[in-house]
Amino acid sequence: MPVIGIDLGTTNSLAAVWKDGHEVLIPNRFGSYLTPSVVTEEDGAVLVGIVAKEKRPLYPERSAASFKRLMGTNRKIYLGSRGFTPQELSAMVLRQLKQDAEEFLGEAVEEAVISVPAYFNDEQRFATKQAGLLAGLRVERLVNEPSAAALAYRSIHEENDETFLVIDFGGGTLDVSVVECFDQVVEIMAVAGDNHLGGDDFDQRIAEHFCREHKIERGSLKPAQWLTLLRSAEQCKRQLTEKDAGMMEWEGPEGKMGMILTQEDLIRIGAPLFKRMEAVVQKALRDASVGVDVIDRIVLVGGTCRMPVIRQYIRHFMDIAPVTEGNPDEIVARGTAIYGAIKERRAEIRDVLLTDICPFTLGIGVRDPSSQDLLLSPVIERNCVLPFSREQTYTPCSDTQTHVMIHIFQGESMHCSENLFLGTLHLDMPTAGSDSRFVKVRFTYDINGILEVEAVNHVGQKQRKVILNSHIRMSDKELEEKLCQLKNLNYISQEEEQVKYLLARADRLYQESLGRYREVVQNNSQWLCSLMDGKSLAELRAAKKQVEPIFDYLEEKLGLEKLT
Ligand code: AMP
Repeated sequence: MPVIGIDLGTTNSLAAVWKDGHEVLIPNRFGSYLTPSVVTEEDGAVLVGIVAKEKRPLYPERSAASFKRLMGTNRKIYLGSRGFTPQELSAMVLRQLKQDAEEFLGEAVEEAVISVPAYFNDEQRFATKQAGLLAGLRVERLVNEPSAAALAYRSIHEENDETFLVIDFGGGTLDVSVVECFDQVVEIMAVAGDNHLGGDDFDQRIAEHFCREHKIERGSLKPAQWLTLLRSAEQCKRQLTEKDAGMMEWEGPEGKMGMILTQEDLIRIGAPLFKRMEAVVQKALRDASVGVDVIDRIVLVGGTCRMPVIRQYIRHFMDIAPVTEGNPDEIVARGTAIYGAIKERRAEIRDVLLTDICPFTLGIGVRDPSSQDLLLSPVIERNCVLPFSREQTYTPCSDTQTHVMIHIFQGESMHCSENLFLGTLHLDMPTAGSDSRFVKVRFTYDINGILEVEAVNHVGQKQRKVILNSHIRMSDKELEEKLCQLKNLNYISQEEEQVKYLLARADRLYQESLGRYREVVQNNSQWLCSLMDGKSLAELRAAKKQVEPIFDYLEEKLGLEKLT
């Protein structure tokens, strides 16, 4: 059975698979490689992907997007009255990718490798695995997004030994990796990232600029209005990838408003975001202990890297012109398929080795005698090559202490209160031999991102714990229930979904056109609507075949971008 690779993105998700000796992207039911990571509820049915993205401005309270940003939390996101966790919503996207992969491959798919931002913490990684489980996918391996990109890049340039930077700038996250390649080894030397910096931040800044220009109080806008404004801002940003100026139009409470945005405006508006990006690159270089002079190449990945201003800025501060390999949206997914093949030990790729690192520091809390504050004592420091194991010895605070509580944390702050708490381990401390009492604490972090902590006291008593993110962990019973709930949600058939997509396109085409074109759109839309009630799947399929070329033609005539 094939293992598929999945790039579960903030904005879009993609799947790929190793086939006939190389990685192949899997087209979705609409023939596109990108499936928007958006979920909407309409008439009691769950819509996922492009249709949901189209419907979102119509039903902002019944739609969810960018939920990857909340992975690892128990926050409920509401589709109407029903609340879902980020992992449940991600499971809906994964389920769709799994179905499309099964259709493409003609066989069942039960296992996936999923990519995650390098800077995802333990809880976010665990939540991603759970999302896979809820979608009916076994996820034994997660791979860091820039590492997947490095693998894919390496498969194109096998011949050179080189050190390069991968800058992965997506919709919601930025990851930077320093990678060294020699022979068949792809070694990740360091990663740094910002989980809250992405293309969406540019959209937000452009939309806020629009509000300032038109003296609109942002707080006065309804959620649906703000969403349409963000959407226009994103379109304007994309125009600026192609041209020197972008035109933004928006239908506000006081009618249609417009704004022209130039590259210079974008540089000014985005300045704080550029600075944050630069800081992440510098941190990655510092952690890898390499200077810019060692870097042979800069590889750009992720949709945001398409922006010319980003390329210019990187070129300006690194003095190296960055390159893009193929489509920057696709490289991570390609890498996940390669990683899947390595995991399966496929003959063509058996000798390739990816060494990855632990992107964050793991340690225990020790009491500061002066302030009683709990301070971090690192056991595994960030950027250690995985798998990694290390032991540290600690002595109890007082001679009379009969047991110790070992608090385990993840993070870079000196103060444990600012780091992520992972769990506690209890250990008795017999008073015998009280002048030489100690605890040896060993942390072992494996390639799947699982941390095992073992503590041994001075008389050889042992405690072990595998950190399992208890607060977001579900019992087997809960998991079974959730699986059942998600399975029983009302998903519409692929054929109905295709027609809904055409109806959404019709709405947009109608708004953008005039006269005869409008008539054509309206007639087709009405006909499609009439089919939604009780027509057979074969009839819906035939209708799609008939209407799709008409809409393609009109979109081309009107110079409209195809929906992605
Ligand atoms: P990703 O998470 O890698 O799919 O990246 C999505 C982000 O890339 C979103 O913020 C998009 O607005 C942005 N993006 C995609 N295409 C372009 C483009 N042509 N120009 C500028 N930004 C883009």
